[in-house]
Amino acid sequence: MTQANTSRWLTNGRLANGSTVDIEVVDGAIASVMPGSPERRGTDLDGWLVVPSLGEPHAHLDKALTAERVPNPAGDLMGAIHAWVAAEQRGEFGLDEMTARATLAVRKLVANGVTNIRTHVNVGESDATHVHLRAVMAARAATRHLADIQIVALMHSPLAGSDGAGNRRALREALQLGADLVGGCPHLEDDGDGMIREAMAAALEAGVGMDLHVDETLDPKMLTLRDLARRVSEIGFPHPVTASHCVSLSVQPVDVQRRIASEVAAAGIGVVPLPPTNLFLQGREQPSSMPRGIAPIDVLRSAGVEVALGGDNVQDPFNPVGRSDPFETAALAVMASHQLPGDAFHLVSNGVRKVLGLGAVELTLGRPANPMPADFLVVNAASVREAIADAPADRRVFKGGVEVAVTTTTRRFNDRS
Ligand SMILES: [Zn+2]
Repeated sequence: MTQANTSRWLTNGRLANGSTVDIEVVDGAIASVMPGSPERRGTDLDGWLVVPSLGEPHAHLDKALTAERVPNPAGDLMGAIHAWVAAEQRGEFGLDEMTARATLAVRKLVANGVTNIRTHVNVGESDATHVHLRAVMAARAATRHLADIQIVALMHSPLAGSDGAGNRRALREALQLGADLVGGCPHLEDDGDGMIREAMAAALEAGVGMDLHVDETLDPKMLTLRDLARRVSEIGFPHPVTASHCVSLSVQPVDVQRRIASEVAAAGIGVVPLPPTNLFLQGREQPSSMPRGIAPIDVLRSAGVEVALGGDNVQDPFNPVGRSDPFETAALAVMASHQLPGDAFHLVSNGVRKVLGLGAVELTLGRPANPMPADFLVVNAASVREAIADAPADRRVFKGGVEVAVTTTTRRFNDRS
């Protein structure tokens, strides 16, 4: 009798606690994690640190890698939006070039250890043939073996009111074409609450979740996060909801932050602060005691809100220097949001999975009680803290137990002997 044997071993990996382990993979999932044995044959991980793969919960693949072609001398959010719209109007972008950039942006993320991505993609009546969406869908198809990608239809404003009819039509088309979630920017609309209601109606109709750009401003009077939480609770919205940015929450008094955080927790809304791009775009108008513009991570987590950290824009008018590396995001969360390195790591790995509606990947000795994908980052670092600090290029990335990306570097010192 023959039996299909799909069991494979990744050997000689090192867990964050320092122990050496071998990992058994069956059908793309973790079958067991055993103490390392020199007798076991398999793919040698060379004693490098093995951690759950990283996630990017908030990308803009359609805009990525355009910093030279779309400069933003003002450096703020409205400067970036105006620069982008002007570039679009002068015909800077097209299906093929956008697909190529989006594909390259995915590959950069994967090389750094990312296997789960949620990207926002511009959708509106001015893009009548849905070039942005089709480009990112083509990039998703081309990289299916590397990463799982969720697409959010980032709606042009307005979505509410009579002027929003064309955009509402474009949203429904996008959901039929292949967008997975409804997005948009209530804080950019005259009727933010109306925008939330329109977004919710379309999401309910399509049976999908929402991920909105919420309150990307330091104006303390702008608090559509509260409107969103109340609407979601009021109607018992049955699909996952994410609030990205939530910048203005960071400038509220702490008691207000706590009150709103508990409403957000009660509504089951996940929050995605975006340290790199928030730090770049926010606070320019306040050179003294410059605010950081990052949603209050600890207040949100203490209230029971699921939080994930993202990078947002990568080398475009919204952030000219994004590095496509969640270790950059985690390091900024340590420095600018006072997170401990271990917490920052959680927020760019399993924290992302949680907000994206995916199961966690845990690397502990034994056989996992629940099925877990064999999605790992193997990195040449002594600890999680050192990995965040040094962000070594030397990484190996496994998706479903298959090695999908390898980066190795050479360093040489020409010391005098
Ligand atoms: Zn964004």
